Amino acid sequence: MDSLPTLKLRILFASTLLVITSLFLSSFTLADTGPPATQQLQNIVNQAHSKFKDLKDGNNANYIPILDTVPSELFGVVIITRDGQVYATGDTDYAFSIQSVSKPFNAALIMQEQSPEALREKIGVEPTGLPFNSKIALELYPARSVNPLVNAGAIASVSMVDASSEKQRWKKVLANLSGFAGEDLTLMKEVYRSEYETSWSNRAIANLLFNYERLYSEPEEALIVYTKMCSVGVTTRQLAMMGATLANDGVNPRTGKRMLKSAAVPKLLSLMLTAGFYDESGFWSYTAGLPAKTGVGGGIVAIVPGKMAIAAFSPRVNDAGNSVRAMKAITYISEQLKLNIFEGS
Ligand code: GLN
Repeated sequence: MDSLPTLKLRILFASTLLVITSLFLSSFTLADTGPPATQQLQNIVNQAHSKFKDLKDGNNANYIPILDTVPSELFGVVIITRDGQVYATGDTDYAFSIQSVSKPFNAALIMQEQSPEALREKIGVEPTGLPFNSKIALELYPARSVNPLVNAGAIASVSMVDASSEKQRWKKVLANLSGFAGEDLTLMKEVYRSEYETSWSNRAIANLLFNYERLYSEPEEALIVYTKMCSVGVTTRQLAMMGATLANDGVNPRTGKRMLKSAAVPKLLSLMLTAGFYDESGFWSYTAGLPAKTGVGGGIVAIVPGKMAIAAFSPRVNDAGNSVRAMKAITYISEQLKLNIFEGS
């Protein structure tokens, strides 16, 4: 029989060997293949990019003259998980104008400052089934503004921000978008100038809303701040982080700051599912099955509730003003990873 000290030594030796072996094995797994989910997400982002990078359908939006000068070939795809892990491929650091992708985030500000009920009563929550700049929708529907994701409702949401001056209104709108991104965003002045100088249609909308007592500030002030909001520059990464904040129950994964109350998050996501793509919202829901928002700058952000956000950017848009390559890339990822929110039901 071994003496007690020898036995102790043997046990010590065996357990040290065990620890070293398991450390070696785990470092091997992490270094060479990564945890499966990590590798899978990076692969899928790469695949979505390479699958659609040669697609040339659609055209840059040109009703805002400067958008026609953005290089059409740009294409970026990013996934950010609710815990802030980033998976990116392509032109993901190119800053483009956020345009209508800003709309749900400003609706969130109204839900925060006031309440989801105030948003529903003073703007509306029905999809229009009509283009984003429709004036007919304003005449057809008693709510006038109809929902905060079309131009009328977004101009109304800007007018609802609690502010006593144009400057203060703009400051709050910008600070809110920055809070969702988790870093300071800035105005693309040339984009703003180009859009403001040509914004006759949106001015008409602001005036009509005011006429029907569905605008809550002076019309030109709402128009100016709305146009600035659409001219904020974002990269695809920043857009994905804004979406990840919604995927993370309203809390920014990077800063830990709560941007939207938990109870309001599903309400905002439901609006994004039913109206995020205007008259293409049905098609989007039918194919991708994810709440999302598009912009004529070519950006799209989609939310997988509780899991991640997928952002894509490419300037060529279809007739509804939605980026062709970004739609395809996100739909592909949703299908491959079975992310459709109705999956399994
Ligand atoms: N700023 C643009 C507009 O008001 C936003 C439209 C969009 O992105 N669909 O026309």
